[in-house]
Amino acid sequence: MSLQKGLAYLAIPGPSVMPERVLRAMHRAAPNIYTGELTEMVPDILTDLNAMAQNEGHCVPYISNGHGVWEAALSNTLSRGDLVLVVSTGHFAHGWKNIAEALGIEVEVLEFGPASPVDPERLAERLAKDPGHRIKAVLCVHVDTSTSVKSDVEMVRAAIDAARHPALLMADCIASFGCDRFEMTPWGVDLMITACQKGLMTPPGMGFVFYNDKADQARETANCVTHYWDWRPRTEPDYFYKYFDGTAPTHHLYGLREALAMISEEGIDRVWRRHAILTQAIWATIDHWGTGGPVAMHVPNPEHRSHAVTTVTTGDSGSLALQEWCKTKAGLTLGIGLGMDRPDQFFRIGHMGYVNAQMILGALATIEAGMKATGLEHTPGGAAVAAEVIAAQA
Ligand SMILES: *Cc1c(COP(=O)(O)O)cnc(C)c1O
Repeated sequence: MSLQKGLAYLAIPGPSVMPERVLRAMHRAAPNIYTGELTEMVPDILTDLNAMAQNEGHCVPYISNGHGVWEAALSNTLSRGDLVLVVSTGHFAHGWKNIAEALGIEVEVLEFGPASPVDPERLAERLAKDPGHRIKAVLCVHVDTSTSVKSDVEMVRAAIDAARHPALLMADCIASFGCDRFEMTPWGVDLMITACQKGLMTPPGMGFVFYNDKADQARETANCVTHYWDWRPRTEPDYFYKYFDGTAPTHHLYGLREALAMISEEGIDRVWRRHAILTQAIWATIDHWGTGGPVAMHVPNPEHRSHAVTTVTTGDSGSLALQEWCKTKAGLTLGIGLGMDRPDQFFRIGHMGYVNAQMILGALATIEAGMKATGLEHTPGGAAVAAEVIAAQA
């Protein structure tokens, strides 16, 4: 008997749950793209995004998903034959690497394993062995969505500075933006990218590049850039159509403006805090289940875990039956294992953006029901553990 009908929770790490307010804001007739409300709202959206990122430099928009802004970031700052260093904590670092290689950029990967963050000491050691400064940029994924590992971007900056190396620091905040604390200018990040379909709660289709003057200097000589990805015409343009090099993503802009209003009403510190508390409830529950079975947090150290997504291992017992049960019986879609040797031994919980306590309590109780129904061994009572955390912290 399926109990699926009702409000579904798409608990995959992007696209995330979209608020009614965002969807309603998008439900309108086509607006004028030459003058009026739409043209006036884009500079405000970019100002809000910059404030949210704590960026004193520029923010440029693209009609694009995350892969597109991966390419925008690289093509505006690098030339064919340049060397970049990818510090990898999972699948998404390799995604960025593939884009770089396709552009003719040489890539070296520093691997930190599937469950550990970037080690600043190892990074500093590698940079110290590059006295000629062949390495032009360090590419760091803030939260790797496959492993749910979060790296300390401030420490990555400190490592680059300790080696007195001029490489640009680029951060992929596509998963983390609006979920995990991020402070672009204070942390010394030269370039950051994000997209609208995760913490920004808007349907997939817009990406953003944030950059500072140092990154813009790199643009002077970069020979990878093509007309469409060039950030210059999009930076504080004199004509509205240049923001998007053509027709603006009209309805996405209305949706995003509403999402940013929601974030600003709550306050970014409270948004981060909400994610932090909900995440603690998830971690405590998984630890509890794991005392009586194979279910465990994939990332052992809580300081290395994201507040946007949680990767859970189910060991040899596998996770596919559980995922299927949650979806078809209960209306909860979990994220699949990604980038692991045995993806069927993992599932992920996406808890980015528009999520609250009742959704997380419901999801955890549902997973527990699914484990019982599919015979995945665990200590029962995990949902009660989550309730304790929520009761104490709310
Ligand atoms: C989702 C994600 C991407 C890819 O974004 P797409 O919109 O799917 O192209 C890249 N990096 C990270 C960290 C992500 O979470």
